[in-house]
Amino acid sequence: LKRIRVIGGGLAGPEAALQAARFGCPVDLFEMRPTRSTEAHQTADFAELVCSNSLKSESENTAPWLLKQEMRLAGSILLAEADASAVPAGHALAVDRVEFSRRVAARIAAEPRITVHREEITHLDESDTETITILATGPLTSPALATELQRLTDSTHLAFYDSISPIVDATTIDMEKVYFAARWDKGTADYINCPFTKEEYEAFLEALTAAETVPAKEWEQIPTESDGKELSSFRVAGGPASPRQPETPAYFEGCLPIEETARRGPDTLRFGPMKPAGLTNPKTGKWPYAVVQLRQENLRADSYNLVGFQNHLKFGEQQRVLRLIPGLENATFLRYGQIHRNTYINAPTLLTDTLQLKQHPNILIAGQLSGVEGYTESIASGMLAGRYAAALAQGERPTPAPRASANGSLTHYITHAESKRFQPANITFDLLLPLEEELRKKIRDKKERHRIQCDRALEAWKTWLDQTVPCAAGAS
Ligand code: FAD
Repeated sequence: LKRIRVIGGGLAGPEAALQAARFGCPVDLFEMRPTRSTEAHQTADFAELVCSNSLKSESENTAPWLLKQEMRLAGSILLAEADASAVPAGHALAVDRVEFSRRVAARIAAEPRITVHREEITHLDESDTETITILATGPLTSPALATELQRLTDSTHLAFYDSISPIVDATTIDMEKVYFAARWDKGTADYINCPFTKEEYEAFLEALTAAETVPAKEWEQIPTESDGKELSSFRVAGGPASPRQPETPAYFEGCLPIEETARRGPDTLRFGPMKPAGLTNPKTGKWPYAVVQLRQENLRADSYNLVGFQNHLKFGEQQRVLRLIPGLENATFLRYGQIHRNTYINAPTLLTDTLQLKQHPNILIAGQLSGVEGYTESIASGMLAGRYAAALAQGERPTPAPRASANGSLTHYITHAESKRFQPANITFDLLLPLEEELRKKIRDKKERHRIQCDRALEAWKTWLDQTVPCAAGAS
């Protein structure tokens, strides 16, 4: 029986370790906190929820519910502890985060097969065939390990920053000042366009470039030559980088904050995210001088995001500056723009359907690092990785989760998505196996279609569970 080494004591790691141990395998669990922390973690606890305390919907026949039901059927230990730490949250599963972490820690402490090591791992030995490694170091993987992973997987296969654009409450947009249009009248006019005159644009630009940004923290700096690492090899998300300013975080060209773009010249925004070409204003019959486009955020159309307006301004500054956009003078912002590090591999190129690195099958990747997004999805992928690793440790070939299940669909997405534009994803019905065309046409009611998809998923999942007990030795 091979030893299993799990790196990362967040969500995926503890679940993977507990699953592998449950199936009889000895596990070493490595967590770098408290010796070294991340920019988001506040404690040294296992299973710390870094932001919200929600594990999403529990409404029957929704995609997040389906994922959780499958996890419950498979005996996910972290989900069981989340259920046991639940707080009232309507149709969602939300937890008391302190209680949740405490319970997970107790489960780990009570598992004699798990040995905990509080240490940062910076080296991966791909030639060690006696150990199965599960890498679950999350979106904030320490830079040294990210460099190591980059060595193992080829430098172009890691991404580093995630940007979030602000979201505005639709009812607070002044619809008299804005207009719906599709660029060059191509497609349906889904976007709301906020038109600027030259004067308005200049005033906006001045306010934007002068606004106060969130100070660059040490964590926002990607490794530099002075750290002994190759700076340029980390720039994976776009074209050549501009010279780096002292104290300026190393952003990727693909998701530059809007204030950085604005600083590059008075017209850069007008030829970039605020490009007015092809967006004729029906009131004037002309293109405005510049435009901010708003894209519908949800099906209810009660919120819109500001396209390309990811930024790193202080929240108060965002409110002040964004209210200079014509039509948004009295806007309520439901979310402000943010940028945070998000390390994930290019799973479509690198991973097998059993979460093993194609080039180094003794190394599995789980959690957000594998390209799934969200707390529950990270736990789910840890659960799968733990089972697969246990099978491998026994000298068996792991059987991938069925495509029809929510778990299988998530894995299918990360391993089959278009690799050039690969982005992490939450579980949604889009990822699940669609119904046959004929059935889709016959069943008009979307809820009923979803119910059938869920039934099918659960059936396939149960069959898979019955057929795949990873290893018998000492399984509990
Ligand atoms: P993590 O939970 O981050 O666990 C990884 C662990 O590995 C950490 O404990 C870290 O200390 C450790 N580690 C890192 N490097 C090393 C090393 N070299 N050696 C040893 N240990 C190491 N998802 C949601 O569903 N809801 C949210 O509200 C939400 N908010 C988020 C906010 C931020 C700022 C970020 C970055 C992500 C957020 N996510 C959210 C996304 C995601 O669900 C979480 O990041 C989730 O914790 C991922 O689980 P994980 O196990 O993959 O990684």
